[in-house]
Amino acid sequence: MNVHESEKIAGILTESGYVPCERAEDADVIVFNTCCVRENAEQHAFGNIGMLKKLKKDKPELVVAVCGCMTQQGDFARRLSETFPFIDLIIGTYNIDKFGELLKKTVETKKRVIEILEKNGEICENISPLRSSFPNAWVNIMYGCDNFCSYCVVPYVRGRERSRKIEKILEEVKSLVNDGYKEITLLGQNVNSYGKDFKEKGVDFSRLLREIGRIDGKFRLRFMSNHPKDLTEEVALAISENPHACKAVHLPVQSGSDRILSLMNRRYTREKFLSEVSMIRKIIPDCAISTDIIVGFPTETEEEFSETLSLVKEVGFCGAFTFVYSPRAGTKAAVMDGQIDAETKKDRIMRLVDLQNAINRADSEKYVGKTVEILVEDFDEKKKAYMGRDERGKMAYFPYSEKIVGKFIDAKITSASGMSLIGEVEKVKG
Ligand code: SAH
Ligand code: SF4
Repeated sequence: MNVHESEKIAGILTESGYVPCERAEDADVIVFNTCCVRENAEQHAFGNIGMLKKLKKDKPELVVAVCGCMTQQGDFARRLSETFPFIDLIIGTYNIDKFGELLKKTVETKKRVIEILEKNGEICENISPLRSSFPNAWVNIMYGCDNFCSYCVVPYVRGRERSRKIEKILEEVKSLVNDGYKEITLLGQNVNSYGKDFKEKGVDFSRLLREIGRIDGKFRLRFMSNHPKDLTEEVALAISENPHACKAVHLPVQSGSDRILSLMNRRYTREKFLSEVSMIRKIIPDCAISTDIIVGFPTETEEEFSETLSLVKEVGFCGAFTFVYSPRAGTKAAVMDGQIDAETKKDRIMRLVDLQNAINRADSEKYVGKTVEILVEDFDEKKKAYMGRDERGKMAYFPYSEKIVGKFIDAKITSASGMSLIGEVEKVKG
């Protein structure tokens, strides 16, 4: 979400006549697009902004701007502006379409501008992102979240769920495919509730998937995140019947313990999650299922943590984003009794990561000797090899003498190296 939002800000800057540069010293404007979902992201932002102090002193005409969800949280903007008096512009998440206008005001008046709205307005459709993730393109299908998981700050800083009109999404996907993008990733905090805020009935996530399935051309379709409480058989069928959809579902489980899931306000049980996994695998054979997991939620016992480990083993996720719980101001969990000490959280995350790594390695081994279709994403200068992924999201490296970023290839996997695969190109398909 944030990466795509940065692309939108870059698009606004381009329209205002700015061009990207490599080094901070050469910049006229530096924008920090922040995230407050987890504490360490926030600490990074503070550290990085602080590092600009000297540059700004040497070059007072430099404009330093801060946006993203951190600015929308509590008294954060005030603390930010007091800690860093050199910041020129602070803008919230609800009025990002006004970024160009407010930047102009800052430059012209040489005065600090802070504009943070309390509530979101209409979805803004007139920003052209400056995309930086070819051959993938991110496409928002909705904004905000209504779920209020007890640990999560997103509903407070991104507002209520708002779905984009289906025509706008289809228009954007078609034009991206025409422009040569080979992978479209639909974005929403809970893609399975797409359309629930529309007055007219009949437009939901499975309908959106089916409509995208009718678009011509060879491209991959991905989407994230699915919420286990809302993923239906209808959606699984729409994935399996879609010629573009990858056999991959990102389904964040967060915990394997029913008591913790309930405290998290996730509104599903371990049993429901497992039955959903079986349903997905029945309807979409070989489907790769990845997840998000939080360890050290308040009051989580060793036994409850081991239920997470056993669930991870049972499902055999093809990948997991693992997080140490961090209290976020304003959320219910932040004021719960029984916060877990840092030592215990560290121990749990390490055990979880070790387990997931072992599962990933075993998954990689299964690929050796097979030929898989890879979409080439990048050239890795250090490894002197191209990097790409198969439809399950497995990463592979392989040498090649010509430029092939953005092409589909068939690669024979010759060995597995931990998380990723090593292979050789058999056929470049275009
Ligand atoms: N809407 C998505 C998640 C968005 S946030 C979903 O529900 O799946 C991405 C991930 O960050 C979450 O899935 C969760 O695992 C993690 N996360 C969110 N708040 C957190 C917190 N306070 N501490 C640690 N991890 C957190
Ligand atoms: Fe946060 Fe839960 Fe919404 Fe995801 S579904 S953004 S975790 S509140």
